[in-house]
Amino acid sequence: MTAYYRNFLIILVLTIVGVVIYNVVNLEQKPPAMSYSSFLSGIKNKEIKSVLIKGGEITGSDIYNRPFATFSPDVATVIARLEEQAVEITTAPGKSASGGFTSSSLPLLIIMGAWIVMMFFQKKSGSDFAKNKSFSIPTKALSITFKDVAGVPEAKEELEEIISFLRDSKKFTRLGGRLPKGVLLQGPPGTGKTLLAKAIAGEAGVPFFSISGSDFVEMYVGVGASRVRDLFKQAKKNAPCIIFIDEIDAVGGHRAAKSAAGGQDERQQTLNALLVEMDGFKTGDTVVIVAATNRPDALDPALLRPGRFDRQVNILPPDINGRQEILEVYGRNIVMADKVHLRDIAAATPGFTGADLANLMNESALLAARKNKDAVDLDDIEDAKDKIMMGSERKGLVISMDERRTTAYHEAGHAILARLLPNTDPLHKITIIPRGRAMGMTQQVPLDDRHSYSKEYLTNRIKIMLGGRTAEEIIFNQFTTGASNDLQSATAIATRMICQWGMSDHLGPRAYTGDDQGFLGGATEKLLYSEETAMAIDHEINSLIEECYQEAMIILEGRIDYLHKLAALLLEKETIGPPEIDSVITSNQPYGEE
Ligand code: ADP
Ligand code: ZN
Repeated sequence: MTAYYRNFLIILVLTIVGVVIYNVVNLEQKPPAMSYSSFLSGIKNKEIKSVLIKGGEITGSDIYNRPFATFSPDVATVIARLEEQAVEITTAPGKSASGGFTSSSLPLLIIMGAWIVMMFFQKKSGSDFAKNKSFSIPTKALSITFKDVAGVPEAKEELEEIISFLRDSKKFTRLGGRLPKGVLLQGPPGTGKTLLAKAIAGEAGVPFFSISGSDFVEMYVGVGASRVRDLFKQAKKNAPCIIFIDEIDAVGGHRAAKSAAGGQDERQQTLNALLVEMDGFKTGDTVVIVAATNRPDALDPALLRPGRFDRQVNILPPDINGRQEILEVYGRNIVMADKVHLRDIAAATPGFTGADLANLMNESALLAARKNKDAVDLDDIEDAKDKIMMGSERKGLVISMDERRTTAYHEAGHAILARLLPNTDPLHKITIIPRGRAMGMTQQVPLDDRHSYSKEYLTNRIKIMLGGRTAEEIIFNQFTTGASNDLQSATAIATRMICQWGMSDHLGPRAYTGDDQGFLGGATEKLLYSEETAMAIDHEINSLIEECYQEAMIILEGRIDYLHKLAALLLEKETIGPPEIDSVITSNQPYGEE
């Protein structure tokens, strides 16, 4: 049944392609149309050079070599007139003859060809078309092990158990226990979920079947479900083994989270098939299903019931130690200069995922190689980091002097506040070299990975973010759109301080959102308060930002000498680090005289 759907679709697509090609080819051959009367007057005025007459269709070119096409109801007269003017005439048989046939039947030929090819393939594979491409059939156990996955110690620990089950299921079922069937790995993209799943298979030495939920989305009804059944059949045959379902939210998203029509039925059917298969496991089937998602909030609760994905493992972006470990994994094969300490790089890359760090190491090696260096040094790593963080450098894009000046003061504003306010992260680098969409950048490096923030730290962060715009206002008495990102970030922090962390004196220690949104974003956020409260919240956020803005203004106006000096230094050097910053900002006092 499903094979027919698929074949039908293929034929449809090929037909459309055929028709399009046919038309394009034909269009290209067809010169601009000319009216019959202007053709006739063209002959009279000796403007026609040569013609090709094919039935009633006349094409040709004029004395300026411009092609034309027209149609004559009376070819005999035309020929007589053309002969009168000694125009070169070629004739060819009309439409009904064989030449016309070949080109107009091109789509038909393509369809027939496609049929034959398809029949051939079906014979060869001996099964229906939909089956084979649905999942990768493992040939041998993977060589990836836990050694290849770094920086996620807790997750590894939780998964150890699954590995022992796969290695020796009898030991565990001996006393009547039921093996875990499903493990859900949840975490942001690039944190190594797929890699972990493969490592489980590698550690246990079992085959690894993988399939992605998003593959089902474009399918037509029935195929997804049959693929799931097929996959489980294969897996049971190869037990013990692992089935990995990536992006399970694509099939297992609950109804509310689903997008418009189309795939709806298909997803529901696929999901049902999955649930049926999972429930149908017997104790003897040592098949562990590992699924991955970055949106656990969007999953159908049916998937999380006992006996299904009842083990959930959270995978977070690595902390500083984790980042160092991951850098060590990827630095193994890279020739590094002696001065490069991976610890420092780990410290300077908060928020980077495993995928980002792997990318960082690779990019640095490529950059160094491009410059014909013998080893990767800190400059390469710094450049690679900037490239990854902000898109590649806007080389060759000319910025006006005004823009550079504005950017220099803007960044200096951020930097001075970062430097003078207490309880802030140390400055790492200031640059006015534009990259990606940013005109410049002031980077701070957290001393450690912070998991909780004080109110002072947060308000100071808001002040630092507003500092760019404040500096522009002080010096130029206007501000540019360059500050819009800063404003967004500042507002986001203020909002969370008031609504989520209960840091408002007026509203008190109460949360005004749903759950902690974490990396998942606030898709399911509900209003838990009245309209008056909403207004009060708005007011609180506004006054918090306003206060921060005023304070940023006072500090920068009081230290306007620093502002001028730092901006001048930036205009000169474009990129400066802590020593240069210290040479300008010699005092640690935020407010004027020490
Ligand atoms: P996810 O499935 O969570 O989106 P992947 O497992 O596909 O992430 O990670 C992409 C790549 O990033 C991996 O192939 C690997 O090279 C690298 N990577 C990610 N996390 C780690 C990690 N913890 N340790 C080592 N490499 C990692
Ligand atoms: Zn800014």
